[in-house]
Amino acid sequence: MSTGRMSTGKKAALGLLAAAVLLAGAWGLGLRKAPGEAVAPLQREESIGFTMGTVARVVAEGPAAGAAVAAVMQELDRLTVLLDRFRPFGDVAALNGSGGEWVTVSAEVLALLEEAVRLAELSGGAFDPTVAPVVDLWGFVEEGTYPEEEAHEHHGHGDEARPHGVPAGEPPGVLSGTGSGDAAESAAGGESGQGPARSGTSPTRLIGYAPPDPGELAAALARVDFRGLEIDAENSRARLARPGQAIDLGAIAKGYGADRAVQLLKEHGVVRALVDLGGDVYALGTRPDGTPWRLGIRHPRRAGQILGILHVSDAAVATSGDYERYFEYEGVRYSHIVDPRTGWPAMELASVTVVAPHGVWADALSTAVFVLGKEEGLALLESLPGVEGILVDKDLNVLITSGLEGKVDLLEGQ
Ligand code: ADP
Ligand code: MG
Repeated sequence: MSTGRMSTGKKAALGLLAAAVLLAGAWGLGLRKAPGEAVAPLQREESIGFTMGTVARVVAEGPAAGAAVAAVMQELDRLTVLLDRFRPFGDVAALNGSGGEWVTVSAEVLALLEEAVRLAELSGGAFDPTVAPVVDLWGFVEEGTYPEEEAHEHHGHGDEARPHGVPAGEPPGVLSGTGSGDAAESAAGGESGQGPARSGTSPTRLIGYAPPDPGELAAALARVDFRGLEIDAENSRARLARPGQAIDLGAIAKGYGADRAVQLLKEHGVVRALVDLGGDVYALGTRPDGTPWRLGIRHPRRAGQILGILHVSDAAVATSGDYERYFEYEGVRYSHIVDPRTGWPAMELASVTVVAPHGVWADALSTAVFVLGKEEGLALLESLPGVEGILVDKDLNVLITSGLEGKVDLLEGQ
């Protein structure tokens, strides 16, 4: 077996994810010792924890995998406080409460805001980090997603948790749930004693909701415009120039978390890993046998099933779907991703999965393409080197960008 140690009790927790790792039985077999060279034994470490408003899973292999995974979980907690607009002491909350005044922000947040503006420009405003007033008016607000005590219940609370989204008999090696619901469901299923599903982490159908009053919507929409976010990098400060503006990094925070996780894992010498922040995944390296990781793409209409398998290595993969958080009103589904140009939820697609070199891009672009719809969305993805995607429309037609040819297996009957 592996030369690595394994944290007890977590073996069962990961289900197929663990199977992915165990399949080849070869975490460690890949270790080639040059004559006379001392090689530190490889460790394999896995952890599941509730952080960044979702269930995070990390599986890593390397000489210091234990320390690496612990560092990742700590880092994700730090980012939760820093980036959540409802956390009072974070930079984003400070900016939102500043009434248009300049606010000093950390270099890290400044860089992320700059990247958000770049992505907003790139997507023609389909992704817009100032969308908060409209999201709140529709009631998709995720306030209360991060109760203090939950964010620190790390490591191994999900002993009974299991990935949903991969049908029984699916070949091991599939990481279920690039749709963010999957991982969350597994922790929110009740078995782990974590209580009901958390908003924003598990498919949530909101009950008793209706579209907002058109006048109120117009007023909220008037406050949405990323050009009102002014960044003064020289003086490490930012401000929201227009009255009532607010930043919501909900569409990129987890992607950034995945990037930071990978950075830390690499710094610890980790050679292969899967990081899954409830639908924002990074696949580092390859499977132990040298083949790409296989990620399940969640079926947008069949809970607990996948519609295909994506083969990737050293790539970020993020999914945005209309099943995450939505309500139905007079037979129409309204979901939590809104078009910042109209104020209405994006209607054309059921899910978008984006593959990109970095998590921030995958995350923001999955949201942007969801807003842009089939035609414009595909065109945007095709125009960006190194960025690919899988779009599923409301009739469950699947569209795949040219660069993913041969890398996606659609399951029969989709
Ligand atoms: P999830 O967080 O559910 O995985 P996304 O990454 O697509 O999905 O992010 C959706 C969240 O981003 C919403 O809950 C909302 O807070 C915010 N949001 C909604 N529409 C937009 C948009 N057009 N641009 C930027 N952020 C958005
Ligand atoms: Mg996103």
